[in-house]
Amino acid sequence: MNIVLLGAPGAGKGTQAAKIINDFEITHISTGEIFRKNIKEKTPLGEKAQSYINEGKLVPDSIVIDMMKDRLSQQDCKKGFLLDGFPRTTVQAEALSKAMQIHAVLNLQMDIKTLIYRLSGRRICSGCGNTTHIEFMNGIDDCNCGGRYVQREDDKEETVKNRLKVYEEQTKPLIDYFAKKGILININADRYKDIVYQDIYEALKSLK
Ligand code: AMP
Repeated sequence: MNIVLLGAPGAGKGTQAAKIINDFEITHISTGEIFRKNIKEKTPLGEKAQSYINEGKLVPDSIVIDMMKDRLSQQDCKKGFLLDGFPRTTVQAEALSKAMQIHAVLNLQMDIKTLIYRLSGRRICSGCGNTTHIEFMNGIDDCNCGGRYVQREDDKEETVKNRLKVYEEQTKPLIDYFAKKGILININADRYKDIVYQDIYEALKSLK
């Protein structure tokens, strides 16, 4: 089963992705994660992507598409995959549709006020990658794993605004794009994460 997770930054794609890949045994591919890893390791790809990411802009289509062609051709994608953060533009969606069959697109819906609140308060553990919100941290930034909760560089307020604007202008049109293909599944993501996942689970189960 090949799935796309669509939704604005902060809608909970990463959280839901972890549950989906566990239950449906498919490979998780997060373009944001790939970029962050390459930036950390100072690879040529990381160097190309860094300035766009820091400004909350999209990395150019040609770079992303080449990277994804390579990633999707790897062996672990044969059992099915979950795309998290790709495609984000119509050009990317067209390249994907040409290369691969996509069985479903899960669109995580959430209103803009909640997105801003979630993104600007989001903290990620530098050790295990767990995500939380400052509201639940009581001023303590230590994680149980021994790591520390930090703010992602691109979760700072100015960048968040840019990322949401970019989403509205460039990624939101993909909702219509995939709806026309008859593979869009809308999910109300403005609820407790386990309740959101129940809907996702039922929807994917019925596809199998
Ligand atoms: P994410 O973790 O999915 O929010 O991605 C973090 C950042 O990586 C985005 O704000 C973009 O700058 C970049 N990025 C991730 N996926 C893509 C994509 N499909 N196309 C262009 N840029 C991307």
